[in-house]
Amino acid sequence: MSGKSSNVLLKNSDPEVFDIIRKENERQENTLILIASENYVSQPVLEASGCTMTNKYAEGYPGKRYYNGCQWVDAVETVAIDRIKQLFKADVANVQPHSGTQANMAVLLSTLSPGDCFMGMNLSHGGHLSHGSPVNISGIYYKVVSYGVTKDTNRIDFDEAWKNAKEHKPKLIICGASAYPRTIDFAKFREIADSVGAVLLADIAHIAGLVATGDHPSPVPVSDYVTFTTHKTLRGPRGAVILSKLDHEKAVNKFIFPGIQGGPLMHTVAAKAVAFKEALSPGFSAYSKRVIANAQTLAETLQSRGLALVSGGTDNHLMLVDLRNKNLTGRDVANRLDAAGITCNKNGVPFDDKSPMVTSGIRLGSPALTTRGLGADDFTRIGNLIGDIIDNMNDDAVLARVQGAVAEICAAYPTAFLRLPERV
Ligand SMILES: *Cc1c(COP(=O)(O)O)cnc(C)c1O
Repeated sequence: MSGKSSNVLLKNSDPEVFDIIRKENERQENTLILIASENYVSQPVLEASGCTMTNKYAEGYPGKRYYNGCQWVDAVETVAIDRIKQLFKADVANVQPHSGTQANMAVLLSTLSPGDCFMGMNLSHGGHLSHGSPVNISGIYYKVVSYGVTKDTNRIDFDEAWKNAKEHKPKLIICGASAYPRTIDFAKFREIADSVGAVLLADIAHIAGLVATGDHPSPVPVSDYVTFTTHKTLRGPRGAVILSKLDHEKAVNKFIFPGIQGGPLMHTVAAKAVAFKEALSPGFSAYSKRVIANAQTLAETLQSRGLALVSGGTDNHLMLVDLRNKNLTGRDVANRLDAAGITCNKNGVPFDDKSPMVTSGIRLGSPALTTRGLGADDFTRIGNLIGDIIDNMNDDAVLARVQGAVAEICAAYPTAFLRLPERV
């Protein structure tokens, strides 16, 4: 089924939605996407995401389904599982979680009873909602203690983690973050978990691609469970994976289905398989290294412009700009950058006194633009454009100049190679 005929069909049958999708394609082509959790999937991944497996019910697992006609979805799920196990050197994998939050929920359900205590990273210091935020089911069903970063280094406060573990005896410890620019020492978390007999879950949603290529240490050898999203640095379709040891396989599978999900999204599982093959290729390893190099170039440029970075820099694909020394809010800066065609997100910084809707920071990441082909010179230029906007928040002439530069960069790196649907 080529994209061509189906897109013509969509255009004719539903011009309204077709046109909205076309505009989204243009947005992805004509802006500089610095959202650290986003990426561009390849055309093969996109094709698999739009395939006929969306029609298939496949409750259960390969060889053990509740429906007939599953021979080909069994085949594709088996390929996905084999590839991801190879990529992360893991014993077992569940490739059905619809999202990272679902993956974490299944691990929580399989290891804790409601009311039990677990420990995760404070959301306002870089953790994730599903690590115990009071507004997420993880914080509603369980007693949560947290650890954060230290005030002086903005790096994980292991003293606090040790102290809280000793005091509260959590049954589970979650390590991993959504807005932490530094290498995570998984072995240290293993020590803490062992000292209180806790299970260790490493949530590597953000850094999965970097871990896959060995550009960030892997938590797989030291963790009981590893969860990650497939759509961030791993550059696959939206969704997630749970890796675990052999003896946890049954429980994990049971809590994904029938525990919290129904039928898997088999078109997405097919797209995951395609993305995992890409991630196993030498080209992906080179990509990971460029992601980190580009992030570091951007970080250094921003610092040369007098901007403060949380923890003073980055080891991975993202950085947090602390705008407090500029007396600006994350909200205002993110909106002004957006007007210039540079898309990022406002983000709280550790010990922020502003609300999550305002914040004192922005989070920037290199994965999407690195996929697009940008290199060191481009990231230096973008860092300076960001500096220009921040130094001239109310100057419309500067805004217009930056808009022009953004258009130039976007034109130099067309997304045509992605063959987004409207171009097929
Ligand atoms: C993005 C992220 C998730 C969840 O991803 P969704 O697919 O949006 O549910 C979970 N954990 C961490 C650390 C993340 O960064």
